[in-house]
Amino acid sequence: MEQNQIRAYAAVHADEALRLTEELCRIPAPSGRERARAEFCKVWLERFGAQGVRIDAADNMVLELNAAGSDALTVLTAHTDTVFPDTEPMEVRREGGRLLCPGVGDDTANLAVLLLAARFLLEQGISPKHGLVIAANSGEEGLGNLRGCRRLMADYRGRVARMISFDGYYNRLWNKAVGSARYRVTVRTRGGHSFRDFGAPNAIAQLSELIGALYAIEPHWGPEGTVTTYNVGTVRGGTSVNTVAQEASMLYEYRSDEAAGLRGMEEAFSAVVEDFRAKGVEIKVESMGVRPCGEGVDRLAQKALSDWSEALLHRHTAGDIIVEPASTDCNIPLSQGIPAVSFGLCDGGGAHTRQEWIETASLETGLCIALETMLRFSE
Ligand SMILES: [Zn+2]
Repeated sequence: MEQNQIRAYAAVHADEALRLTEELCRIPAPSGRERARAEFCKVWLERFGAQGVRIDAADNMVLELNAAGSDALTVLTAHTDTVFPDTEPMEVRREGGRLLCPGVGDDTANLAVLLLAARFLLEQGISPKHGLVIAANSGEEGLGNLRGCRRLMADYRGRVARMISFDGYYNRLWNKAVGSARYRVTVRTRGGHSFRDFGAPNAIAQLSELIGALYAIEPHWGPEGTVTTYNVGTVRGGTSVNTVAQEASMLYEYRSDEAAGLRGMEEAFSAVVEDFRAKGVEIKVESMGVRPCGEGVDRLAQKALSDWSEALLHRHTAGDIIVEPASTDCNIPLSQGIPAVSFGLCDGGGAHTRQEWIETASLETGLCIALETMLRFSE
């Protein structure tokens, strides 16, 4: 396929990409409630001749192209869910050269462009040599805990050669997984009256001590250059100003770009909790989700995929490409030793805010990038 054929298709279909983005934006899809968007994608692809499109148990929409029998599949995804809890359609508006709507860039526009690129393969009757799996997947954001991608990787276990998730903007390439673990930690005491029971254990004071101990952890595991962090994100508790607090809780997470960093944090965190328990503090630890790090990925294969993607983005866009680690759907394939990268098919800003926007003109560029990716992995 010639570059100018790709550019011609993108130019002709850029306006449609914009309208499709608007349509998808209007279908609310908070994590855990993505099914309506997945159904829409299925019907849309079937209009252009897609066969055997399915919605799986995790609410992923899945289109296979010549995938049967292949064990060198390329999986191309964009996620359907947004961080916004809204279940009523959100307002979409055009303003100047921009399209504004919560979730428009993360990840609705990328999903629309993925669909339009898939339609090109359908219309051209292209049968990808080693098979493609094109998915509108669920559960990428926050507490979605990568539900959709976990399902995909389980369904195609042992058959996936690489995954590319279209997410974010096209001046960014995420080629390494940042893994994380999140917890709700609750401390409980008998409590009492602030004056009469003074001296009785106070849950807020105990949790504060626990937090102090956790912040004394020095993350030093993993190979040179490993970045490991932790954070207490929220704290709540207590009953009133004159009550010895009976309960206090926090949301706590740690992250690392190396599996050794996550393991080190897990041990250090447990050691602090056990230490407090041994002193008689009642602590409940609940897991709020785990995102694994990459492990066992062939370095050369990962580098080849990353380098190819970076060159692709440079060919179609101006300016620098920021290459960095991130926490995305790619954590799942990377944790299973499967090469994976993530980059966007649009340009914009304000992801995860209600002021989120994309440059409407960027969709044409994004469509070129998606088409070239699809054709490259159809060879
Ligand atoms: Zn996203």
